[in-house]
Amino acid sequence: MKKYIYISFIFLLSFFLFGCSKKQPELNDLQVIKNRGYLIVGTKTDSPPFGYYNKEGKLVGFDIDIAYAIAENIFGKKSFANVKFVKVDTQNRIAKLNSKEVDVLVATMSINDKRRLIMNFSAPYFIANQKLLIRKTSKIGNLQYFNKNGRLVVIMGTTGERVARNFAPNANLIGAKSYTQAINLLINNQVDGVLGDDCILAGYLNDNLKIINHSYSKEYYAVAVRKTNKSKELLNALNAAVASILDERQLNFITKKWIVY
Ligand code: GLU
Repeated sequence: MKKYIYISFIFLLSFFLFGCSKKQPELNDLQVIKNRGYLIVGTKTDSPPFGYYNKEGKLVGFDIDIAYAIAENIFGKKSFANVKFVKVDTQNRIAKLNSKEVDVLVATMSINDKRRLIMNFSAPYFIANQKLLIRKTSKIGNLQYFNKNGRLVVIMGTTGERVARNFAPNANLIGAKSYTQAINLLINNQVDGVLGDDCILAGYLNDNLKIINHSYSKEYYAVAVRKTNKSKELLNALNAAVASILDERQLNFITKKWIVY
């Protein structure tokens, strides 16, 4: 019996020693993606023309095309199988990135200093401006109007919310969960203006709405990745991808396809 205990002990000890020493180095984010064979992209699905469902029920838009172009670059081949899209919204997108539910965000995400502290951004792929959307019949001329009158809506957690607090600190400010909700409030006369990204607001324009042509902030959209020591290679690959999308005029093509204003 003693002999068996002794043999098992030796066996366990050697397993522990050799097993540990042979431990594989942990893969970085880019290696994980390459081994998996597709990129998991967090994207908006209610932000035309960036990410939305078209009449045929297909997820399309500027950000969708950017995601495919980046994946084509990473995998070296063009294929719809290169990307799996996961719906994110303005409020949960950073959490979904950090919990590893998605590899990257291509989600109308503006670079700003506060966000740079908690995530990394690729080189920019689009410029947006914070602008004011109002009803066509409205006489409102600027954002400062809301310091004393009316009600202004912003989408919670956006750069637009920060801009509104800056330019109209005394405004009666309403927080909406999404652009759809904000614009419905405007259409139903529950608020008098929406401050948001001009390119997304333009996707919601109709005969009864207009955008005031003044920019309250110029912002750059970029692909966001986690800020960890395993994300460096992925960030480099994203930057190389954005550079080549720019170089090959693919970005021009995508912009012309989706941006009509
Ligand atoms: N670009 C803005 C931001 O990153 C708004 C984006 C959005 O709500 O989708 O905060």
